[in-house]
Amino acid sequence: MSTEFAAWMDAVEPSETARMADLASRLRREGADVVGMETADPDFPTPEHVRDAAKAALDRGETGYPPTPGLYDFRAAIAHKLSAENDLPTDPEEVYVTPGSKYALFEAVATLVRAGDEVVIPEPAWVSYEPMVKIAGGVVEPMALDAETGFEPTAADLQSAVSDDTRLFVLNTPSNPTGAVYERETLEALADLAVDHDFWVLADEIYEKLIYDGEHVSIGSLPGMAERTITVNALSKGYAMTGWRLGYITGPQAFVDALGTLQSHSVTSATVFAQRGGIAALEGPREPFEELRETFHDRRDVLVDVLSDAGVDVPVPEGGLSAFVPVGTDDVAFCEALLESDHVATTPGTAFGREGYVRVCLTTDRVEEGIERLARQIA
Ligand code: PLP
Repeated sequence: MSTEFAAWMDAVEPSETARMADLASRLRREGADVVGMETADPDFPTPEHVRDAAKAALDRGETGYPPTPGLYDFRAAIAHKLSAENDLPTDPEEVYVTPGSKYALFEAVATLVRAGDEVVIPEPAWVSYEPMVKIAGGVVEPMALDAETGFEPTAADLQSAVSDDTRLFVLNTPSNPTGAVYERETLEALADLAVDHDFWVLADEIYEKLIYDGEHVSIGSLPGMAERTITVNALSKGYAMTGWRLGYITGPQAFVDALGTLQSHSVTSATVFAQRGGIAALEGPREPFEELRETFHDRRDVLVDVLSDAGVDVPVPEGGLSAFVPVGTDDVAFCEALLESDHVATTPGTAFGREGYVRVCLTTDRVEEGIERLARQIA
């Protein structure tokens, strides 16, 4: 049988995050006590009221296919959240529920990007944006971000990154891996350019609930942006629900309808009883999620203190679940050595498009220990 697969296979590498996670699992299986700072997966169980809602749905026998766009009540809860919290007036019909936001992003790119279309991605960037664009046949135009500006683009950076040929700009604030939370002025500058050059913005807001400094602004709420913004979010990170695979997407009705065609011919829908949990997460008590945010905030402070005591200058993550730490050397070799000899699992910056850095996640209660070992390895 021929092993010649589809053309995109030549352009896309397997994920480096998965490789490091596999190496860490192997060490753990061999009995090593590994400090796990390699995945952006909150180390907390989903709060009880959410689990109860899903269990109740199962016990009622709610196990069939849900409607492709998602349960109407869940879409209504999401539309209410977007309207009330994000200043994005949204109708339930304009919301699609997806199995995780990763699939929402995949669908958005597949729906918008035509062969040869230019897609601007600020880098360092989350590992999957570039492969998604390549799979769709688009051309990635990376926009390099500086540690000196806290990995936030300046107005000049934005201006030189886009043109009339730009089809789509991928925006991720708060950012994985850097933790940057873009200022309102930065988003206003981007919005002006999007209107002038007539391009779309794909806003990945998955870390919205995990902000420690600054405020979250949804770019779709800025003047002229409703018609050209696709907003993606999920319950994964801020609600400790990564394994439930619940994401959602909204945008102009024509876009949502086109995306619906893709969803109906691919995954059909997100799991029905998981969606019942999603409704409880959005409509139930907020305290458990606020505690989650406070815990990550405390860990962020510990990370910054330990690094600063060790003389390592790191842009302070203002949100999200990770920091991007300069290691001044071959980052892949650094991560492998840190894992093998000091038993701390991290991910090389190369995976996010920037050599000489590693991403460390706050998803362990051993942040202090892990960062102390990392700082020793840098010294
Ligand atoms: N977007 C960003 C920036 C992420 O970091 C992740 C997961 O790590 C995702 C999207 C996908 O998350 P999920 O599919 O769990 O909602």
